[in-house]
Amino acid sequence: MNKSAKLYQDACKVMPGGVNSPVRAYKYVGKTPAFFKEGKGAYIYDVDDKKYIDYVCAYGPMILGHAATTVCDAVNSVAIKGFHFGASHELEITLANKIISHMPVIEKIRLVSSGTEACMSAIRLARAYTNRPKIIKFAGCYHGHSDSLLVSAGSGAMSCGEPSSPGVLASQAQDTLIVNYNDIKAVRDIFILYPRDIAAVIVEPIAGNMGMVLPQPEFLNSLRSLCDEFAALLLFDEVMTGFRVALGGCSSIYGVQPDLTMLGKVIGGGFPIGAFGGGAEIMDYLAPNGPVYQAGTLSGSPVALAAGLATLTVVEQSGFYEDLAAKSTYLTRGISAVMQQGGIDFSTNCMGGMFGFAFTKNSPDSLPVFTLKQQKIFNQCFHSLRVNGINFAPSPFEAAFISAAHSFADIDDTISAFSYFTQLISCQV
Ligand code: PLP
Repeated sequence: MNKSAKLYQDACKVMPGGVNSPVRAYKYVGKTPAFFKEGKGAYIYDVDDKKYIDYVCAYGPMILGHAATTVCDAVNSVAIKGFHFGASHELEITLANKIISHMPVIEKIRLVSSGTEACMSAIRLARAYTNRPKIIKFAGCYHGHSDSLLVSAGSGAMSCGEPSSPGVLASQAQDTLIVNYNDIKAVRDIFILYPRDIAAVIVEPIAGNMGMVLPQPEFLNSLRSLCDEFAALLLFDEVMTGFRVALGGCSSIYGVQPDLTMLGKVIGGGFPIGAFGGGAEIMDYLAPNGPVYQAGTLSGSPVALAAGLATLTVVEQSGFYEDLAAKSTYLTRGISAVMQQGGIDFSTNCMGGMFGFAFTKNSPDSLPVFTLKQQKIFNQCFHSLRVNGINFAPSPFEAAFISAAHSFADIDDTISAFSYFTQLISCQV
């Protein structure tokens, strides 16, 4: 038994499923998860000393790669002066200003400790501001695990076979109305059914929790128009896409302005963070200015903010996202080519430093339902890549991420590993 397997046994004795977040348990792909001990740049190393080129990037945050020197230095210099005060400090203003400078639709922002908290709080704010109960959410979009949002949620919830969870009361879920991604007609129909009850539409403007699904042309624009027509708020969950797909996030790519934007992941440079922001009038509904309560002991953690600021200072340099996009494009084209040569149905998407693939002929445009054959081939591919030192998330419902630290040589090695997989598959046929 290798060290990872032994640690997994030990972990299962003291933690449900041996993990602190379900997807890590490899339930979808089978076998035991690797335990990691170190990450540097594009690579991570497991406890059995195996090196992997990493495309999980901690599910998005590590846009500069692991343990980037500039982030380590920033964290060290802040931590040595005290980890947290539970009180105001200057870095909060600096980070708020930096985010606002790149996302002008945000006038005021609140920093929290996770994406879940950001989305949960934004929904509360939207309900209070509009004085309406219902929200529209898209099947397969994941906005964290708060009760009203854990309905037809993606990735982790999908892979465990529990699109929603016991413990979420019907009364909490009943005001969450579910529509298929990219189905603008269904959104209109719901608005017509409940013209004065819908507080907000919450959407991942590029979905990354059902694999990677792009919005069809006009989808986001049409959501904006419907929200305006029915006086509801439009909420962009950019926890995954913010500073990942472009400096200004999806709203800059598609030219659509949400009322509230939720952020996380990259803005904390790998430390726990979340944020939500929007127009000053809406944000001032928050306590202490307004009546909507929201708070957090570790909100605005100086260490997380230092990591986030150091990260944003690099990504805002000119050419950063162009370089990242060139790498994702090179990678996805390379993988597609070897899959095509192998005669395997395969589709890919990419934007900035985010990409996805599916064993389907065409890219899904909403929550995919994979056949048993497609599930099997994903699992075989995952394990084959893992043996060859390539780390992807253990679920076809997760997006993948590339960092500035990945070299074209790393990408060529990755394409070779996919090529090896196609040969493996062809031997089995
Ligand atoms: N929103 C989106 C789009 C996410 O991808 C995630 C997490 O993956 C969340 C919200 C929840 O963020 P967190 O895991 O930091 O609570």
